[in-house]
Amino acid sequence: MPPHADVLQWEHLPFPKSLRDFQKLFPNDEACARYLEGAKWPKGFVCPHCEKKGEPFRMSTRTSVLTCRTCRKQTSLTVGTVMQRTHSPLTVWFWAAYLVSSMTPGMSAVQFQRQLGLSRYETAFQILHKLRAGMVRQGRDRIGGNLGRGDHVEVDETYIGGAVRGEGRGPKPDDTVLVAAAVEVRTRPAKRGDKPMWRGGRYAGRLRLEIIPNRGAKAMTGFVEQAVEPGAMVITDAAPGYAKLGALGYAHLPVVEAGNPEVAEEYLPIVHLVFSNLKAWLQGTHHGRVEPQHLQAYLNEFTFRFNRRFYPFNAFRSLLGIGTNGEGPTYAGIYEGTWKHPTMASHHD
Ligand SMILES: [Zn+2]
Repeated sequence: MPPHADVLQWEHLPFPKSLRDFQKLFPNDEACARYLEGAKWPKGFVCPHCEKKGEPFRMSTRTSVLTCRTCRKQTSLTVGTVMQRTHSPLTVWFWAAYLVSSMTPGMSAVQFQRQLGLSRYETAFQILHKLRAGMVRQGRDRIGGNLGRGDHVEVDETYIGGAVRGEGRGPKPDDTVLVAAAVEVRTRPAKRGDKPMWRGGRYAGRLRLEIIPNRGAKAMTGFVEQAVEPGAMVITDAAPGYAKLGALGYAHLPVVEAGNPEVAEEYLPIVHLVFSNLKAWLQGTHHGRVEPQHLQAYLNEFTFRFNRRFYPFNAFRSLLGIGTNGEGPTYAGIYEGTWKHPTMASHHD
């Protein structure tokens, strides 16, 4: 068995629930280096200088460098990742990426520094900053492009911010920001032993969140055009801002009286769930006080985790900038039940 095989097997394990468990997977820099090596060369090291295949020399003193046995040239494992030319140990980066990719709310640089036992605040701040930047670099491709029969995209908008809890004041219009959401909604027939994650056998697929300036047609239609592939079935409320979606090539289903909670629950349940989760997260993390100029960054962070919630190892890798040569499970595999989510396996088996 090649030495990196056991590292790659972790992909199929449940994502660790705690930093302590995560640290057991990556106890030292050598384990992290083996993971990087396995991700880069799943079938074994190939020297980028002489293209010879074969076990490289590994140094215990410089774990992130491999030396080719044929040409004796060195190859860095962190090239092209966020850890390139770093002075911090690989373990610190790996543990930090775990904290950022898991749903840990309210992670400030100070808490981060304490969790990782770093002596310098600046180190914690810079690592956190670099990892968060990875959340903005997400694919801006449009959602809803490959939906199955009966699947669709829910679109809605909500006000965020303004209300300061416990101060007895109403929302201040100056502080509120209008946020539009588009979320793929997939359905599949219930199966024996199913534990529905979402109501009514409906599942959320990918999400897009964007600040929009107002409820005008230009802003609302513009958001949908940027976020959703034409041709997709789009469900909205009957707001006039969405009126032109049909003419723009969407299979638009405006739901009259979606302001009525029962109607909204029937036709726009997933996007409302997203909004309530988003607001709870902002409340928990930032006590609901988010400066409007920082809100889009938080929306990106929420979206990053939401869109990768089935693939936490992908989220973790993506933050570190570790490329993957292997094939992850497909959406179809998840929704048709042919791919078993690691953390749900215990419920099914
Ligand atoms: Zn070589």
